[in-house]
Amino acid sequence: MSKSTDILIRFHEIGLKGKNQPLFARHLAENLRRVTAGLGVEEVQSVRMMIKLKLSENADREQVIKTAQTVFGAVKISPAIRVASEYQAITEAAINLASLKPFSSFRISANRADKKFHMNSSELNASIGQIIATKFKAKVDLSNPELNIHVEVQKNDSFIYSEDYRGAGGLPVGTAGKVAVLMSGGIDSPVAAWRMLKRGCKAVLVHFHSFPLVEGRSREKAQELAKVLNLYQYDTKLFLVPFAEIQKRILLEIPGPLRVVAYRRLMIQITDAIAKIEGAKALVTGESVGQVGSQTLQNILTVSEPATLPIFRPLIGMDKIEIIDQAKAIETYGISILPDEDCCTLFVPKSPSTAVKPYELIEYEKKLPIKELISNALNESELFEYHLPSS
Ligand code: ATP
Ligand code: MG
Repeated sequence: MSKSTDILIRFHEIGLKGKNQPLFARHLAENLRRVTAGLGVEEVQSVRMMIKLKLSENADREQVIKTAQTVFGAVKISPAIRVASEYQAITEAAINLASLKPFSSFRISANRADKKFHMNSSELNASIGQIIATKFKAKVDLSNPELNIHVEVQKNDSFIYSEDYRGAGGLPVGTAGKVAVLMSGGIDSPVAAWRMLKRGCKAVLVHFHSFPLVEGRSREKAQELAKVLNLYQYDTKLFLVPFAEIQKRILLEIPGPLRVVAYRRLMIQITDAIAKIEGAKALVTGESVGQVGSQTLQNILTVSEPATLPIFRPLIGMDKIEIIDQAKAIETYGISILPDEDCCTLFVPKSPSTAVKPYELIEYEKKLPIKELISNALNESELFEYHLPSS
C-alpha cells in the first residue's frame, strides 16, 4: 500500500471570493511554493477548497508546517496521510491515525469530493466509525469529540488527518496591490507593515535616517527589519532616504515646537513621491492615537495634509502592549529595541506642540525649497532589495 504524509492547507476568506477564488488560491499556492523552497516540498497543488503540499520522503515536516504558518491566506494546516482512494486503504489509514494517542470519544468527518467514489460521505462516516468504535472501544461524539478523523476522498488520492495547526489568516500577499510604508527603526511601523501584508498588500519600505548627523545604526536596523518582513512578502524594496540636510534646513527656518510635525510632513511628501514611482496606492504609518505628542488628532491631521495618496494607519486603535505582543510574534521586536538615535528627536524641544495647525507651518515652510529638498532626497536615497528564495 502506498502511504505518505502530505500537508493540507485550508483557507477561509479566500473561500468567500466567488469567481475570483481560483486566482487567490493560485496566489496562495505560489507563495507557499516560494516560502517552502528547499524544505523538501515536491509539489504544490491547488485543489478545490485546499492546497496540497506533497512532501518528499526526507522533507522536514515540522519546518514545512512552521513556515506555512507564516503564509497569509492559510487558515488551517494539517499533516495528512495520503493513500490511494480505495476503501481498504482509507480504513487502514484511519486506524493508524487513531492508534497514535488514546481517546475515548471520536467522530469521522468524511468528505467525498470525488462523486464517483462508491460510498458517499455518510456511508463512509458510518462504516469507518463502526470499525474505530469496535477496535478502540470508543464512543462516537459528533459535537465534542476528543479525536476528529477527517477523510477527504479525491479522485486518485484520499487524505486522512486529525490535527490542525493554526495559519496566519488574511489574504495572500500580492493580491491587494502595493503600499509604501514609512518605517522607522521603532516597534510600531514594522507591525503596521506586517498588518498590511496580512491584507494581501506588498509593502515598499521607506526609512529616513540622519546619518552623518548621528551614527548610522537606524540604517542597519531598517535593513534587518526589511529582511524579517521579507519572510512574509518574498520581494521587498527598502529605500534609505537621507534626512540630515532637510533637518538642518528645518532647524534654520522652523521654531522648535513645530519641528516634529514639519519633519513628518516632509517624510510624507517624499514617501508619496516614492509611492508614485513604485506604483503604490497608499502610504502607511505606525501611528496610534495619542501614543505620543505627535500623534494627537490635530497633529495627525496636519501631517496628513500634504499627502496626495491616502494614508493608512493600521495600528490606530491598538495600545502599546498589543503592538508589542504582535511585534514579538512576528519577530521584529528584538531588532526594534536595539538602541539607535531617532531622527525625529534631533533639534526638537522636550515638549513639542501637540496641536500644530497647518496655517502655522505653511508660513515657515514657504521659506524652504520644498521641491528641491524632495528631489534631492529621492536622488540620494539608496535602494536595497530582498527576495525569497534568495538566489
Ligand atoms: P515607531 O515605533 O514606528 O517608530 P512611534 O510610536 O515611535 O512609531 P513616532 O516616532 O512618532 O512613533 O513616528 C510615527 C510614525 O512616523 C512611525 O510609526 C513611522 O510610520 C513614521 N516615522 C517616524 N520616523 C520615521 C523614520 N525615521 N523613517 C520612516 N518613518 C518614520
Ligand atoms: Mg519612533
